[in-house]
Amino acid sequence: MKYVELGRTGLQCAQVSFGGIPIQRSDAANALAVVDALEEHGINYMDSARGYTVSEGYLGAALKGRRDKFILATKSMVRDYEGMKRDVETSLKNFQTDYIDVYQFHNLPLTAFDQVFGPDGAYRALVEARQEGKIGHIGASFHGLDALKKAVEEYSDKIETVMFPFNIVEDQGLEVLKMAKDRGMGTIAMKPMAGGNLQDWALALKYIFASGVIDIAIPGMGSPEEVARNAAAAGAFGPLTPEELERCAAIRKELGTTFCRRCGYCAPCTVGIDIPSAFLFRNYYEHYEGLKDWAAQRYAAMAHKAGECVECGLCEGRCPYELPIREMLKGVKGAFGE
Ligand code: SF4
Ligand code: SF4
Repeated sequence: MKYVELGRTGLQCAQVSFGGIPIQRSDAANALAVVDALEEHGINYMDSARGYTVSEGYLGAALKGRRDKFILATKSMVRDYEGMKRDVETSLKNFQTDYIDVYQFHNLPLTAFDQVFGPDGAYRALVEARQEGKIGHIGASFHGLDALKKAVEEYSDKIETVMFPFNIVEDQGLEVLKMAKDRGMGTIAMKPMAGGNLQDWALALKYIFASGVIDIAIPGMGSPEEVARNAAAAGAFGPLTPEELERCAAIRKELGTTFCRRCGYCAPCTVGIDIPSAFLFRNYYEHYEGLKDWAAQRYAAMAHKAGECVECGLCEGRCPYELPIREMLKGVKGAFGE
């Protein structure tokens, strides 16, 4: 495993590190097995979130007696001072520690900057927590390119790490992430497998690091086998060969017309279908053996199923990627039977 410094934080992190979303779909025993595997393979950076339900707590219990072997990162959706103070304490309690290495604003949108960095904003709470030695560094995750750009252009003195989707089919952040790296910010790739759309793990990870703009990637890992698979892929990074570039282009071509970016612009559906979730669950159901049952359960719990689509077409007019949503929903119905 190669270790790299995360921006200017001084933290030496495994290039392929751990995303904690899948932990919320498992149990404490599996979380322990996953953390054992992380330690065994030298994956030392662990990312979670207040919003990932039981993830912080399961990881905290699994870290007992070995906290010092890991770099801990988590994040909060809270935007105000008091709320962020509370969330830091909750995270510390969940992780059963007195120190979190990186605390991040979770999915910071353009509209939240004024509040977060204002006098009663969450940023002041994180600065105080850093002064008190409760956290080490302040970061942020983004889904919107405009928000990432603002953070890099105007807040690189305050935000030390940025996290953004980056993968074979989502490289819209390339230029801004390069700028972030040039300014000494740590760059973290989330959704390296494009939310379950990419099946070639090794190529997906290699592509990310061949870009030169990413310090670490944090694929979600829900089992010791997935940890081993990611760790194995980490040994083969380098420039992409002409054959690999061709495969990336073929993947882009294949997913180009049918790949949901989960931007949500298609909402509201006339009959209330949560369109991006329906696509996401189908991807997990068909491509991730370990998540098949989970995906089926989550789909079963959806209030409105793909089969309820009345084909009004309104969603397709709103989709910036011109996806054939009605046809794609038929595929979801085919997979789940409703
Ligand atoms: S076409 Fe189907 S999915 Fe799209 S808005 Fe209409 S009912 Fe909803
Ligand atoms: S607008 Fe298109 S890409 Fe965005 S969530 Fe809806 S279907 Fe997916």
